[in-house]
Amino acid sequence: MYDVKSLKADDFINHEEILETLEYAEQNKHNKALIEEILEKASPKKTGRGVECVGLSHREASVLLACDIPEMNKKIEELAREIKQAFYGDRIVMFAPLYLSNYCVNKCVYCPYHMQNKEIPRKKLTQDEVRDEVIALQDMGHKRLAIESGEDPVNNPIEYILDCIKTIYSIKHKNGAIRRVNVNIAATTVENYRKLKEAGIGTYILFQETYHRESYEVLHPAGPKHNYAYHTEAMDRAMDGGIDDVGLGVLFGLDKYRYEFAGLLMHAEHLEAVHGVGPHTISVPRLRRASDIDPNVFDNGIDDDTFAKIVACIRIAVPYTGMIISTRESEACRAKVIGLGVSQISGGSRTSVGGYAGYSSEERPHDTEQFDVSDQRTLDEVVKWLMDSGYIPSFCTACYREGRTGDRFMALCKVGQIQNCCHPNALLTLQEYLQDYASPETKKVGEALIDREIQNVPDPKRREKALEYLRKIRDGERDFRF
Ligand code: SAM
Repeated sequence: MYDVKSLKADDFINHEEILETLEYAEQNKHNKALIEEILEKASPKKTGRGVECVGLSHREASVLLACDIPEMNKKIEELAREIKQAFYGDRIVMFAPLYLSNYCVNKCVYCPYHMQNKEIPRKKLTQDEVRDEVIALQDMGHKRLAIESGEDPVNNPIEYILDCIKTIYSIKHKNGAIRRVNVNIAATTVENYRKLKEAGIGTYILFQETYHRESYEVLHPAGPKHNYAYHTEAMDRAMDGGIDDVGLGVLFGLDKYRYEFAGLLMHAEHLEAVHGVGPHTISVPRLRRASDIDPNVFDNGIDDDTFAKIVACIRIAVPYTGMIISTRESEACRAKVIGLGVSQISGGSRTSVGGYAGYSSEERPHDTEQFDVSDQRTLDEVVKWLMDSGYIPSFCTACYREGRTGDRFMALCKVGQIQNCCHPNALLTLQEYLQDYASPETKKVGEALIDREIQNVPDPKRREKALEYLRKIRDGERDFRF
């Protein structure tokens, strides 16, 4: 039976509840009055504490997703843009993935790391190689990483992951530093999550892949990942282990997107109901071609318009949850969805183990790639493109380092302090990037942007302080934050 507070996967991601939700959405997809009511409920409201949004339930959001009245779809898109603007402004947080090891004991049928794939050379970075990769990433200008690894208790035990995190945080090359390490590794125990927390990780990210239990079991035919309940209940264990920020996601293309969308929101509702805080981020990866993987054999692929609608509906349903897209998506697709709700993107990514060090920005090793990268631009090109498109690339990691995680981060969002906090932090970290890593052209565009945008910090004292920090950064000092 559906129970949002239950700790059992089949109760909080209840199959019957999802089917009823989809039925309800189908019946109401032309119900203009209901859709208008839902949009009104989800609109940002001014309160004594700033601008607030209440979000939507999975049922309400599913009605929006199913809606096929063009005029209402336009309103859905406008509302998503309005919410994005209210809570995230024009800032886009930058990160890069770092692949540590592609050894894996699972048989996920969509993933090139599956253990039967003989085409892919197996590789695991030594600590010296981790160091080289991190230096290469720092030299690009990255401050935030997401580490990625296959699941293999012998080759990649938790101790290996912890060693890598330690190495990553220890490297200070020129003015570089990795200030936040997010972790995308297989579901594990409370004890191991506690160790990750102690190692100072940012977000623990785990994609559900699919919320549909039957499909899940077919898609993960063997290995520890086969256990649907263990995988689905992982975020509860992570939060029990003290990790405040968790990142959800589904791999779109595996099962029907409306089912996944409802499941994703039910998962978010569950975390909020049980732990008092929803997911910190939601990722929206789509299945890509990879070694031994042909995406065309999966028949649930979604087109770019549907993808954009999903992003818009997630933005409306969970306004305080960051949204991430990777270089799986093309430049054109990224351009489309950023305004609708995406708040973090990767740039200059390599999805192979050891893909950064020793390669120029034009060269990319393909042999151990996890998936084909669609957006192959350098970080500098992505940064400039964002600025030319009216966005502010941000390398900020302040919230996590100031202890503003979990519900404290949400509180900051809700009191509308973002413009006095995230906005100057974005500009300060962008200034660092321009100073240390940008091409002359990018630097020119960026400095003009900063001069303009710093005037939009509402609190005059904060603005003064930010201007002082900017001067200091230009004079060579680093790492200021609010
Ligand atoms: N091994 C970890 C786990 O089991 O969750 C996570 C690391 S894996 C490198 C990161 C994610 O890549 C997976 O969760 C999956 O969603 C995604 N992925 C796997 N195969 C993919 C493909 N062919 N195209 C796009 N994304 C893929």
